[in-house]
Amino acid sequence: MSIRQLPEDLINRIAAGEVVERPASAVKELVENSIDAGATRIVVTTAGGGKTLIRIEDDGCGMDQTDLLLSVERHATSKLGADELDDIRTLGFRGEALASIGSVAELSIASRCAEAESGLRLDLRYGARSGPVPVAMNCGTIVEVKNLFARTPARLKFLKTDRAEAAAITDVVKRLAMANPGVHFVLNGSDRTAQSWPAVTGARALEARLSQLVGDDFAQNAVPLALSRHGVVVAGLAGLPTYTRANSLSQFYFVNGRSVRDKVLVGAVRAAYADYTFRDRFPVVALYVAVDPAEVDVNVHPTKAELRFRDAGGVRGAVIRAIGEALTAAGFKASTSVAE
Ligand code: ADP
Ligand code: MG
Repeated sequence: MSIRQLPEDLINRIAAGEVVERPASAVKELVENSIDAGATRIVVTTAGGGKTLIRIEDDGCGMDQTDLLLSVERHATSKLGADELDDIRTLGFRGEALASIGSVAELSIASRCAEAESGLRLDLRYGARSGPVPVAMNCGTIVEVKNLFARTPARLKFLKTDRAEAAAITDVVKRLAMANPGVHFVLNGSDRTAQSWPAVTGARALEARLSQLVGDDFAQNAVPLALSRHGVVVAGLAGLPTYTRANSLSQFYFVNGRSVRDKVLVGAVRAAYADYTFRDRFPVVALYVAVDPAEVDVNVHPTKAELRFRDAGGVRGAVIRAIGEALTAAGFKASTSVAE
C-alpha cells in the first residue's frame, strides 16, 4: 500500500458529497451566495425537483473576470479573512459550494458587476472548466445547475421523487425568505407554480414576512418576542399555547440570520411552554436569536445547519424569558415558574 495525493477533481467530488447532499442543498448554497452578494431580488427556478435544472438569478454585486475565475476554485472565497473564523458575518465562508457543485453537475455562472458593460459566463461541467465568454445580461449573477449527480449514480439513486425533492427546495427557500424579510423571493417550481414573496421593511417586517410564509393565521395567534439580555437578542413570533401542532415542523429557528437545527433552542422553547401546552403538542414558533458572531461556532458541519453557542446557558435563559414575558403580557399564566 502506498499513500498518494488525491487529484483535485476527486477532492471536489468528495467535498460535494458533504456540501451538496441533494438539490435543496445546492439551492441553499446558491441563494446564500446571492444574499451575501447583497441581492434585493432572488428568482429561483427548478425543474425535475432540481435534478434536471436549478437556476438562481440575483441582482447582487456580481463578479468581475478575476473573481468569476476564482469563484469556482476550491477554498477560494471573498468572505473570510486569514484569521476570521471566530467572526463570521456572511452565510458562506468555506469557498466550497461552487467548486463542489461544478464537480457533480453542469454548472454555469454568468455574472456582471456594476462597473462592467456586459456579463461573463463561465462553465464548469463535471470538473471541466470552459470560458469565460461575454454574455448580455443585467447586473447581478445567474447560476444554472443542470443534471445534478447525473455522473454520480450512487448519489442519484438516493434522491427521492421529483415531488419530494421539490418540496425540500420549497422548504429551504421559505426558510431563507423567513430569515431575510428585506429580500424579494420568487420561486418557480417544477410543477409550473410560481410563488412570490415581496420584500417587507419597517418595524413589523418580520411579522409581515411570517404572515406571508407561515400564514396569517400564525401571525394572528402569536405574540411578538423582544428581549435583549447579556448580549443575546431574541425576536420573532411565539404561537399562543392554544395554537399548537402535532409535530415540530412548524418550529423555525434562526441564529444570526441563518436557519439552524439546534438542541439548545429546541430545549429552551420546550421549557418555556412546559407549563402551558400538553406534552405531545408543539407550539408554532419562529425564533430569531442574534448573538455576537464570536459567541457562536457555525463551522461545526459542512452544511452549517448546526452550531455551538459559547454560552448555551445564557442563550437558553434569554429564550425562556423572552417567551415567558410575551405570553404573560398576552394574559397567559404559567402554573409554576419555569426554571431557566
Ligand atoms: P463561499 O460562499 O463560501 O465564499 P462559494 O463557492 O459559494 O463559497 O462562492 C465562492 C465565491 O464566489 C464567493 O466568496 C463570492 O465571492 C463569489 N460568488 C458566488 N456566488 C455569487 C453571487 N451570486 N454573486 C456574487 N458573487 C458570488
Ligand atoms: Mg457560498
